[in-house]
This record gives sequence, C-alpha cells and structure tokens, in this order.
Amino acid sequence: MQSSGKLHLGNLLGALENWVSMQEEYDCFYFVADWHSLSSNYEDTKELQGNLVDMGINWLAAGLNPEKSTLFIQSLIPQHAVLYVLLGMITPIPWLERVPSYKEKMENVKDRNLHTHGFLGYPVLQAADIILYMADFVPVGIDQVPHLELTREIVRHFHELYKTKVFVEPQPKMAEVKKLPGLDGRKMSKSYGNAIFLSDTPQERAKKVSMIVTDPARVRRDDKGNPEVCNVFSFHKVFTKSARVSEIDGDCRSAKIGCVDCKKELASNLANYMAPFDERRKEYEGKRRDVLDILHEGTLKARVVAADTLARAEEAVGIAIPKS
Ligand code: SF4
Repeated sequence: MQSSGKLHLGNLLGALENWVSMQEEYDCFYFVADWHSLSSNYEDTKELQGNLVDMGINWLAAGLNPEKSTLFIQSLIPQHAVLYVLLGMITPIPWLERVPSYKEKMENVKDRNLHTHGFLGYPVLQAADIILYMADFVPVGIDQVPHLELTREIVRHFHELYKTKVFVEPQPKMAEVKKLPGLDGRKMSKSYGNAIFLSDTPQERAKKVSMIVTDPARVRRDDKGNPEVCNVFSFHKVFTKSARVSEIDGDCRSAKIGCVDCKKELASNLANYMAPFDERRKEYEGKRRDVLDILHEGTLKARVVAADTLARAEEAVGIAIPKS
C-alpha cells in the first residue's frame, strides 16, 4: 500500500478488511510501499515519513496482527531495488507502455511530470515486490489485474531466458469487497476532496455525512425520493443492517423519512461501525514508537526471505559469484 496520503474509508473496506481476513488463512506479507509513493509524488516528500507511521497505526487498528502477518517497509529492503534492476534489464518497454493505468494517468494527470523512468517502471518494481516473497496470491482489485498479468509475463520471460524456475507465478486473489463511493458519488479519493478519513473523529465524519449528495430531485421534505440515485443510500447499504435498508428504501420513496434524519441515522451507524477501529487507533496513536518497532521487526523477517530469493535469482542470471 502506497504511503502517499492519509487512508480513508474506501481503503479500509476495499483492502484492509480483506487483508485482515486473509491473515487467518495465509502466511501474508504486507508492506508500506514508500518507493512506489515516489513514482508519482517524487517532488513533494515532506509527509512521507509521517504517512508511513500513520499507515502502520491504521493497519494495526484495522486488525492486522504482526503475530500472524509480516508487516514491513519496502525501502528498508534493498533486495527490492536489486531485483527491480535485474527485471528492468529484461522487460520490453512496450509491455510497460500498454499497462492501462499508465496510459490513463499519462492522459489525466496534468499537475505533475510523469515522464519519468520511475513511473514507467513502476510495474517492474511491483513485480519484484511480489516475486521476492514467492507469493502464490496477491489481493488485488479489478484495476490491478493487468499489473499482475505483467508480473506473470515477466516471470515467464525470466524463466525462459535463464532456463530456470526461480520464482512463483502469482495468481490474483479477488475478494468480495464492500463498494463505497466518495461523498460526491465519484470514487473516494484524497485528491478529489471527497473522502472520509480513518483519522477523522466521529464528529468530523458526521459533518461529512451531512454533506453527502442526495437525490437531486428531492428538494422539499414532502417530495418523494429515489434511493437508487442517492449517495447516502449507497452508504446505508454498507453501514446499516439490511432489514433497515429495505425500510429506508420504502420510507424514502413515500417521503416518510426526510434526508436530514436519514443522514443522522447513517452517521450514527457509521460511528458504531468505526467504534472498535477508533478505540484501537487511539491506543496506537499514543504508541508511535511501538508501531515503528513492529514495522522494523517485520522488515527483518521479510529481508531474510527476500535475500534468499534474490541470491537464487542472481545465480540464475549469472551475476553473482556462486558460494563455494
Ligand atoms: S431520504 Fe435518505 S435515501 Fe432518500 S433521498 Fe434522502 S438521504 Fe437519500
């Protein structure tokens, strides 16, 4: 997970909750991708270190358990960079230029210069991140599947070139995640200014809930509404019990409930949903040093695995002097 900004509810529901459930079944490696943050935010780095600790706090508050999962920091494991170099030597540029997210960002991001080696090579670093740990599965959203396919192609290419089988071809692990839009109905994103942050207080969240866009045709209290076009209703589907969601659907259509009360109810349900998270977050906020220690301990564990894989990869390439 990139440490390029504060985490929001979309990150919790779309990724972290899935990560937490995966740790019960798999030997998981989760890392703060601080080098990846540089790929598109290399000019403004003053918040990087603070974001890194804050990310650790959010992970632990969400329920990631360092006894079950290895939690670490990418930039403290140089093996990622070395494998990135080796893979970069063999990856054809057209493979990178055709990655959909590369094309999309090149067209849409105008406030930064992304014509850099690092931005184009981002999926190669991502491939190194994954295969260093011999990952069988990677939890991805649908938009990350082409990246993972590229990783698999790079692995096959490496194996063919060097007549070896050092790495594992990782498979995508798609989860049924709860979809949550931003306050304005677009994708929730810090850069769109439509996010509810995990670090927000319950009061701040309630204020943001009061700003969520509703059915635009419902102007007066006695106008009948249409929940299907109301963004508040999308939130209710996530945070409100399903029997009550059906009632709200009917009450909105018959104007039995007004938007102000509907939002108050949502704010209260959201506060209940987030209460255990908030409590744990408060606890870890007071122990920032301990959180960093957890990430450093995980880094030591991860580095052992990464060093072993890299040594085998270097031997396959013929770049390292074999041990006698
Ligand atoms: S009553 Fe609720 S669901 Fe209906 S339009 Fe208002 S906020 Fe949306």
